[in-house]
Amino acid sequence: MQKVKVKNPIVEIDGDEMTRVMWKTVKDKLLLPYLDVTLEYYDLQLKKRDETSDKITLEAAEAIKKYGVGVKCATITPNKDRVKEYNLKQEWPSPNGTIRAALDGTVFRAPILVKNIPPSVSSWKKPIHIGRHAYGDVYKNCEYRVPEAGKAELIFTNAAGKELFRGTIQDFKGPGVIQGIHNTDKSISSFAKACFTYAYDQKLHVWFGAKDTISKTYDAQFRKIFEDEFQKDWKAKFSEAKLEYFFTLIDDAVARIMKAEGGMLWACKNYDGDVMSDMLGSAYGSLAMMTSVLVSPQGFYEFEASHGTVQKHYYKHLKGEKTSTNSMALIFAWTGCLKKRGDLDKTPQVVEFAERLEEAAVETVESGIMTGDLMAVATPDPNNRRVYTEEFIDEVAKRLQKKIEQKAS
Ligand code: NAP
Ligand code: MG
Repeated sequence: MQKVKVKNPIVEIDGDEMTRVMWKTVKDKLLLPYLDVTLEYYDLQLKKRDETSDKITLEAAEAIKKYGVGVKCATITPNKDRVKEYNLKQEWPSPNGTIRAALDGTVFRAPILVKNIPPSVSSWKKPIHIGRHAYGDVYKNCEYRVPEAGKAELIFTNAAGKELFRGTIQDFKGPGVIQGIHNTDKSISSFAKACFTYAYDQKLHVWFGAKDTISKTYDAQFRKIFEDEFQKDWKAKFSEAKLEYFFTLIDDAVARIMKAEGGMLWACKNYDGDVMSDMLGSAYGSLAMMTSVLVSPQGFYEFEASHGTVQKHYYKHLKGEKTSTNSMALIFAWTGCLKKRGDLDKTPQVVEFAERLEEAAVETVESGIMTGDLMAVATPDPNNRRVYTEEFIDEVAKRLQKKIEQKAS
């Protein structure tokens, strides 16, 4: 059997714990037997990040800028416990945060739909994608506990030292709280560009919700930047592709999403995206049934699983116990990356291979073979069978092999 040639390199970013274990199995059983591919390998397991004083994380981000497309395994973001566990030099920052900052990216998430795991919301027929602005607002705030009566003001002084604005936030009669938040035109504009680029690529409508009736300057600026970006670069393309851009108030967007059939990218401000992506993940069954991709406005792509390293399962694995960990999101990180590579390289055979692999994975779950996390949410059926981590990947491999043989004959 001839292997499928992948024309340009893919940046491979390895990670930690249970996802690292699955990563290798997925590569060995589902990818390397079929692909002739050059992988630019960066090992971001915590030990390596510590050894290189986290330089390797930046190098991986640079490699994505060089080659355009990367795929990332889940990695540990160290906390105090991890510093002890791995005897680290320091509490290194989140690799996802570092890579996101380097690529100026937006994170897009979408569910992997299978017939026997119906979404909790019955009207959802097509996937709802979510794009979360990952900069600013309450995540980069300045807040203060007001201890007593007094006046809180918002002041802006320009770089030359001239006061341009002063407004009263509140004349406090007693204790309370205040908070200052910000965003920048540059970041909002990158976010808007990334959303339209992604949606156009995936043939999705774009919905954007904000609260500009109440926040007539702050949220209004988000709305304006989205509208300007749409008018400037996307209106014609969207109309040609029969796609629409729809702005509505955030509360109206939430109400409509619950009745919609899907097929849209829901662009969310930072906090809305934080909250709503967890709601979507849970409504679609499991975090392991979500895809996740970081897209930069320059057109660099990093595909990943949206869940973590599944630490609890890993400790069982280390003790020699069998685990039932779901590799769907990891498999789809690879297929997403291969499809993008194939698109950019104009090699349809690579895209086709990735599609076969996705079909094989979906058919495995639809045939009732699934990991424990899905057993709990799947439509009950006497054929449903809970399998171990490796068994699941073997079942996908069997179906993939059959598809490839069918095609060859
Ligand atoms: P997690 O790895 O997402 O796992 C939390 C729980 O969700 C698991 O214990 C498991 O539940 C379930 N789960 C998640 N993924 C699953 C899968 N593929 N198959 C089956 N069940 C799955 O989150 P965490 O335990 O809070 O975090 C572990 C480490 O991951 C942390 O060090 C964190 O820093 C890191 N993390 C990395 C990323 C990333 O790199 N993308 C994202 C988030 C967290 P049960 O135990 O009930 O089976
Ligand atoms: Mg959240």
